[in-house]
Amino acid sequence: MSVLVFAESQSGQFKKAAFEAVTYGHKTAQVLGMDCIALCLGDAGNAGELGQYGASKVLSVSDASLNSFDSQAYTKVIAQAAEKTGAKVVVLMHSSTGKGLVGRLAARLNAGSAPGVNQLPTNNGAFRVKKNVFSGKAIAEVELKSDIKVISVMGNSFQPEKVGSDAAVEGLAVDVPASKITVKSVNKVQGSVPLPEAEVVVSAGRGMKGPENWGIIEELAELIGAATACSRPVADTHWRPHHEHVGQTGVAIRPNLYFAIGISGAIQHLAGVNSSKVIVVINKDPEAPFFKAADYGVCADLFDVVPRLIEAFKKHKANA
Ligand SMILES: Cc1cc2nc3c(=O)[nH]c(=O)nc-3n(C[C@H](O)[C@H](O)[C@H](O)COP(=O)(O)OP(=O)(O)OC[C@H]3O[C@@H](n4cnc5c(N)ncnc54)[C@H](O)[C@@H]3O)c2cc1C
Repeated sequence: MSVLVFAESQSGQFKKAAFEAVTYGHKTAQVLGMDCIALCLGDAGNAGELGQYGASKVLSVSDASLNSFDSQAYTKVIAQAAEKTGAKVVVLMHSSTGKGLVGRLAARLNAGSAPGVNQLPTNNGAFRVKKNVFSGKAIAEVELKSDIKVISVMGNSFQPEKVGSDAAVEGLAVDVPASKITVKSVNKVQGSVPLPEAEVVVSAGRGMKGPENWGIIEELAELIGAATACSRPVADTHWRPHHEHVGQTGVAIRPNLYFAIGISGAIQHLAGVNSSKVIVVINKDPEAPFFKAADYGVCADLFDVVPRLIEAFKKHKANA
C-alpha cells in the first residue's frame, strides 16, 4: 500500500509546490504506515531529486506526449499508476493542473476527494483532512470514507523538507492514450518570479490611479525580489496583465510577505491573499477593510510612502 504523489514538472524542472506535495505525501505515508512513491510524467529532468523530500521510489512515464497537460490522458495514466502501486492515497498539487485532475481522477478510481487541503490527515480510524472554505472565512474538516482517497495540497501549506537522498527512478509501463488535443505553443509569462511561487508579493490596486504610475511598484518588487500582483479592477481595465490578478476569481497565493498598496481589501480580494503569512497594508483611508487583515498597516498616501520604502530598502542593501 502506498501514498502516490504526482509531482508536476515543466520543461524538465520541478516547481517548489512539487517538493511541497512530496513532503506532504511522505508525512502522510508516515502517519498511515505506508510507502511514499512519486510519479512524474513527460520530461521531468532530475526526477530522483524527489527522493530528497521523502519519496522512497520515483516512477516515470517519460512519453513525450505527456509534456503538455491533457486532463484526460493524465487521468488515465495516473489512475493506472495508482492501481499498479496499490495507492490508497493519491496526492496532487492544488495547481491549475491538480485542480483539473482531482475530480476526474476521483471518479475514475471511485475515490473520495478533497481539493485544497492544508493539514495532514488524522489516523485515528478515520481519514480526516482540513481545508479552507467560504473564501477562507472557515475551516472544514472533511472525512474521506472511500478505500482510495484523492487529495490536492494547497500551495505554501507545507515547506519542502529534505529528509534523504536521491531515489531510484523506474520507468512505469502504462498505456498512454492518444491525446485528443494538441498544444501548438506555450507563451510563458516573462518575469523574474512566478506569482504562485513567490515568497514576497508586491500588489497594488485602484489607488495607483493609472498604469503610468506602476513604475514604483515594479521598482519596489525588483529591489526585494518580489513578484507583482494586482486587484481585479486593475486587470479588468488593462492597467496590468490578467495573470497578476489575485483573489477569489484570480490566483490564490500564500506568500510569506504580501504588500497591499492602494487596495481596499474587499472580501473577494482577501479570499486569494489572506493566507499570506505577513500582510502589510498601505492605504490612505483609515476605514479601509484591509487594515483588519493587516499585520502591519501604514495609513498614508502611497505616493509618499512607496518611494520612501524604496529609498529605505536601497540604503539597507547598500549597507548589507
Ligand atoms: C464575484 C466577484 C468576484 C470578485 N473577485 C475579485 C478578485 O478575485 N480579486 C479582486 O481584487 N477583486 C475582486 N472583486 C472585486 C472586489 O469586490 C473589489 O471591487 C476590488 O477588489 C476593489 O479593487 P481595489 O481595492 O483595487 O479598488 P478600490 O475598491 O477602488 O480601492 C482603492 C483603495 O485605494 C485606496 N487609495 C486611493 N488612493 C490612495 C493613495 N493615494 N494612497 C493610498 N491609498 C489610496 C483607497 O482608500 C481604497 O481603499 C470581485 C467582485 C465580485 C463581485
